[in-house]
Amino acid sequence: MTDSIRDLLRITADRAATYLETLDQRGVGPTPEAVARLSELDEPLPDAPSAPEHTLAVLDEIGSPATMAISGRRFFGFVIGGSVPAALAANWMAGAWDQNAGLRVASPIAAKLEEVALRWLLDILKLPGTAAGAFVTGATMANFTALAAARHAVLAKAGWDVESNGLFGAPPITVIVGAEAHPTLFRSLSMLGLGHQRVVKVPVDDQGRIIASQFPEISGPTIVCTQAGNVNSGGFDPIAEICQKAHAAGAWVHVDGAFGLWANATPNRAHLTAGVADADSWATDAHKWLNVPYDSGLAFIRDPESLRSALRLTAAYLPESDTREPSQFTPELSRRARGTEVWAALRSMGRSGIADLIERNCQFATRFAEGLSAAGYTILNDVVLNQVVVTFGNDESNKRVIAGIQQEGTCWCGPTHWRGQSAMRISISSWATTAEDVERSLAAMLEVADEVRVP
Ligand SMILES: *Cc1c(COP(=O)(O)O)cnc(C)c1O
Repeated sequence: MTDSIRDLLRITADRAATYLETLDQRGVGPTPEAVARLSELDEPLPDAPSAPEHTLAVLDEIGSPATMAISGRRFFGFVIGGSVPAALAANWMAGAWDQNAGLRVASPIAAKLEEVALRWLLDILKLPGTAAGAFVTGATMANFTALAAARHAVLAKAGWDVESNGLFGAPPITVIVGAEAHPTLFRSLSMLGLGHQRVVKVPVDDQGRIIASQFPEISGPTIVCTQAGNVNSGGFDPIAEICQKAHAAGAWVHVDGAFGLWANATPNRAHLTAGVADADSWATDAHKWLNVPYDSGLAFIRDPESLRSALRLTAAYLPESDTREPSQFTPELSRRARGTEVWAALRSMGRSGIADLIERNCQFATRFAEGLSAAGYTILNDVVLNQVVVTFGNDESNKRVIAGIQQEGTCWCGPTHWRGQSAMRISISSWATTAEDVERSLAAMLEVADEVRVP
């Protein structure tokens, strides 16, 4: 048994290493042939067991070619980082451990790694050191978790116990969002019974930022959702001003900083993040800019008690403890030990490594914008972070150029809509991307655009 496990894991390591080493020799997107081959997986459920290495072989031989090369160096779609080597290795180790991270007693190591990672995260993201943290699946769930704490707190202040009684008959909560909030934020709000239609939407400027002077007068239970890093422009809401106004009226301020919160990890982007630390809760992703494997999101809450109250179990099912009990801070009870990779990424890159990752990605975005602009194409956003929104003319041109770039394969970018027009979005979020990759990708983009755009 021991030998065969060792052999299997060795074969797996070899296959995975070959996958990563050869990623650069193929197009970033899978070929149509590779995607068509996926139909080979449509086999009946096997009647009998088979050797695990056969299953692995199928996975690698049919599966690997049909992946998007997200762990490669020239994937610029959505906002999806790769995986730093230490985080990938930690992910394998955590898989071997198979820990249930919900309970300290079930996994002392998972609980410890979360505790240490949380301390480091609050430090590097410049958030209050006593804030609570939740290790969840992504920013959607991180927003959900933080807003559950917000819902608890604003209603508790109004004398209402929302966990016991729900929202039936509760004092109404005013929810304020920017008109350019991320679509998933509205999903989090609707799952919490706060509704995605009944929100107050504050007008935004040409970068998708809340216009502070248009922020409404507020009173009563109120949750304000701000954004650090618009998914198109990378723009930040004026969070300092909003916090001042909202806190004066007793409101809760939340920050959706799925990737933008990481701007706080570099000294050079401090002008964007003013006031972020004044908020009451924050959501971010580790699987985006920290470059850990999927899935990994983080919620931070200034007042730990509001989060614990929001998630309290009705029966004394869990052991009481003076130390941090991981499941008291997440909607889930059982879950994987995703703090392992977060810890590994933070430990292996360190403060300067992370600052360098963020800064390098931002500079690459600037370079893309310069190159495209010099070739006569219009950049639709102020490039303040890692996001570039470019148009190659009209809708038809954008469609053709994006398809052409995806097909050509040097790099991969996707379409977006920005301020009423179609565009292509470039997100640079990987540790692996080099200056040479940027030049190569830029050259490929310009060649495709020259060839296929509508003149
Ligand atoms: C990506 C993103 C989300 C959603 O994050 P997931 O990790 O995909 O759940 C929410 N808000 C913003 C600003 C984002 O960029």
